[in-house]
Amino acid sequence: MNIIDSHTHLGTFPLFNVSMDSAEMISIMNQYGIKISVVFSLPNELTLDAVKKYPERLIGLVWINPHEGNLALQKVDRAINEWGFKGIKMHPLLDSFLPDQEIVYPVMERARKYRVPILFHCGHPPWSLPWHFSNLAEVYPDVTIILGHMGHGHIVYINGSIDVARKHENIILETSAMPMHRKIKEAVEKVGEDRVIYGSDMPFGHPSFEIRKVEVSGLSEKQIEMVLSVNARKIFRL
Ligand SMILES: [Zn+2]
Repeated sequence: MNIIDSHTHLGTFPLFNVSMDSAEMISIMNQYGIKISVVFSLPNELTLDAVKKYPERLIGLVWINPHEGNLALQKVDRAINEWGFKGIKMHPLLDSFLPDQEIVYPVMERARKYRVPILFHCGHPPWSLPWHFSNLAEVYPDVTIILGHMGHGHIVYINGSIDVARKHENIILETSAMPMHRKIKEAVEKVGEDRVIYGSDMPFGHPSFEIRKVEVSGLSEKQIEMVLSVNARKIFRL
């Protein structure tokens, strides 16, 4: 199986005492059978350099802050048109916006125009809770919204993520940093086997346990392959 890792970062993060460069990421990918990783970093040029260096192994998402207005949209245009990036990443918690605020709408219009998914960090109050993504998914039913971490470590937010994904066909759940393996099976059963995708959140997380979490969640062999590989290929159009 050629695993696709839908959530990784490059750079140095002193707060977490971790760092990773592209060579190290490729070496870990080789060790764990990961064919392609989806990368987003700040600055975006860090992602660009890595994608240029390993075009067969890494694909980029452009990380933008909607408070930047037109500049954010220009970054999206450039990354998709000139750099060949495959989607957009936003972080409501770090950048202090609610996912259903109108400030996000122009970015959603861009995602619609380019037919690319948007991955949001999901699982921390006050800015990135699942119910706000539900409102956004209702306004843009034709844009694919990926809930990174599917609620993260909090059972109420994890259940909330599963609930909102069940309501909106355009919401996808991504498994990194969500500690409850059985919730992956529940998500597949309630939301759909084609709407849950694996991520490691490297370097904050590690494929050694993130892949294992999917494998022991109680899914069938076929479903494990869908979560680890097949679904992300379709969503990112690889
Ligand atoms: Zn992350």
